[in-house]
Order: sequence, then structure tokens, then C-alpha cells
Amino acid sequence: MPRPTRAIVDLDKLHRNYRRAAALADPGKAIAVVKANGYGHGIEAVATSLASVAPRFAVAILEEALALRAVVPRTPVLVMQGVYEPDEWLACSQKNFIPAVHSPEQLDSLRAARLQGPVTVWIKVNTGMNRLGFPSGDVPRVLSALEAIPGVAVEALMTHFAQADEPDHPRTGDQLKVMADLRSAFPEKSQSVANSAAHYTTRAGENEWTRPGIMLYGSGPLVRSTGATLGLEAVMTLESALIAVRDLQPGDAVGYGADWCADRPTRMGIVAIGYGDGYPRAAPSGTPVAVGGRRTRLIGRVSMDMLAVDLGELPDAKPGDRVELWGSTVSVDEVAQASGTIGYELLTRVTSRVPRVLLSASA
Ligand SMILES: *Cc1c(COP(=O)(O)O)cnc(C)c1O
Repeated sequence: MPRPTRAIVDLDKLHRNYRRAAALADPGKAIAVVKANGYGHGIEAVATSLASVAPRFAVAILEEALALRAVVPRTPVLVMQGVYEPDEWLACSQKNFIPAVHSPEQLDSLRAARLQGPVTVWIKVNTGMNRLGFPSGDVPRVLSALEAIPGVAVEALMTHFAQADEPDHPRTGDQLKVMADLRSAFPEKSQSVANSAAHYTTRAGENEWTRPGIMLYGSGPLVRSTGATLGLEAVMTLESALIAVRDLQPGDAVGYGADWCADRPTRMGIVAIGYGDGYPRAAPSGTPVAVGGRRTRLIGRVSMDMLAVDLGELPDAKPGDRVELWGSTVSVDEVAQASGTIGYELLTRVTSRVPRVLLSASA
């Protein structure tokens, strides 16, 4: 039997989550964000599956856009960090990539590029996140500079929220106000503001592109909640199996550092997955995990290739039983909260040692 550790990727759930995002975006249109290897699910599988429903894809960098082109020949791809090197402008114009322009350096490099065809760009506006983008006061000047370059068309103004995951946070209102002023000044330009969280906390307009990422994969974009509470379905099930079961006596400790110690006779199991697979080493004793479909808890420290679980409430558990680390029984958001991180990090961190197994009733 091969090692039972795998990440099952359910493409039908991905489709249903995309449709939920598209319904929330309406009358705007939802661009499927598939950066970081489709949030760890496999960019090619995710893009192939969504190509029939998503009008566009978004990635962070050109290399990801090129990987998409291997499976999705035509759908336009937004490159959210834009180009790093002058050569990349050529690929954008040839392959229907839409790079964001966020800096004076990128503007200069586009001026100097030898384009062989038209290129469509978006302008990234800094409305308060203070990561990338031009200040809104520079937009008129940047827009005319871009439109003065032969072959260059500016389609949209985009920005990114800092706190859309906290419903009613005043900073989101401030950022929206800047974009509303830009809409009055440049009504012919599309806008794009919403990440997943903003699908729940703001409303998209007619001429707007939303950019849902994490919600497509079923993890919750809002603080202190899980995807399931928003009606999203967990696309990835990270699973393995029990490979040993033993009975501990009071005083017996488990694993490195003897972090966890039995205070009464305790049945425990060893699971064939660890931080070498992307399960967080920071997950403490008590983190939820499901054995044979029933919830129990992690005990002791996570090793590179193994971890231990409490089988005290599951006396019939035996080697070979299936263990869900996260999926529909244990939300990735719960594991993330227990480990001091977010679902995004756990999903994107599943290593290449874990085979992705695709599931789809319609394929
Ligand atoms: C990653 C990213 C998104 C998607 O964010 P989610 O929170 O995953 O929905 C949207 N816009 C930009 C600019 C991003 O970098």
C-alpha cells in the first residue's frame, strides 16, 4: 500500500464556490484568482476546471500566467504585480495578459518596451493599504502617460482592501470613497476593488471586476469565521491514515520534547503526515482532527513525517483508518486559528510530497 497521505481536490465544489462568488459579484464580474499554484490546489487543474465559467483569471506574476497558458489558451489573465523585466511586456501583448502598472519604474519600462501588438493594462491605486500602487492624485497623470504610448490601452483602475475581512471597518469606507471619486473623474474606466472578503462586506457595481481568491477554495475570508458558516465548501481534503495505535499509561509522554503527557490510560494513534507535508508544526495539542469521520484532537508535537492523535473517545480505531487533517469535517480555518495563522497559508503550504487527487463527478 502506498503512503495514504494525499490532498483530494473536489472540482465540483470549486465550481459551486465560484458560482457563489459570481452571484455575490453581480452585476459586476468575478475574476478567478489562481495565484500561488491555485492556492495550493494545483493551478492547472483549477484553471482547466473554471475555464468554462470564469471570464478571466488573475495571478500575481508572469510565470504563473505562462503556466496558465499551457491549459487555458485564450482567457485573459490579470497579472496583479505586473512586469518585473522589460522583456515581459512582449509576452503580455502576445498572450493576452493584462498587467497591473503600480510604479513609476513599470511605467518607464513600458515606455521603453518594443511592443509588437497592443497591450491592455490596469492601473493599481494605493487607497490606504500602502503596499503597491500610485496615490490617487497621480492617477490623471499616469493615465495620460500610459495612453500616450502607442498600442497601450488602460482598461481599469484597481485597488486592494486592507481590512475588508472585518465587517464595517471604517478604513474600507475610506478606501471606497477614493475609488468613488475616481469613478466620477474617469467614468469610462472599469474598476476592481473586491477580494473575497469584500464580496460579503461591500457591493460591486455594473462596470466592476471582483477578484475572489480564498473563497473559491472554501476557506472563510472573514475574521473569526470558517468557510462553512458562509455556505462555502472545502475544496481540499488533506487526509492520511493511522499507521500505529498504542495504549499509554499515566506518565507516558508522546513525541519530541515529550510535550504532551498522559494523565490517565490513553489510547493514541500515529498518523502518516507531518510538517514535511505542510501540516503546521505550530499546531498545538488540542487542534481538531477527524479519525474515521469523527472529530478528536492532536496530541504532542507535530514531527516532519508523523503526528499523534488522541483515540480516547474512539476505542475501535485501528491502523488503516482514514484521518482528515482538514476538509469538510475539520475546517482548514479551525486548524489555522489553532496554529496562529490563516487558511491561505496552510493551503498554499501543502508540499509537493503530497499527491493531489482530482475529484469531479462531471469529468
Ligand atoms: C490575492 C489577491 C486577491 C484575492 O484575495 P482573497 O482574499 O484570496 O480573495 C485579490 N486581489 C489582489 C491584489 C490579490 O493579491
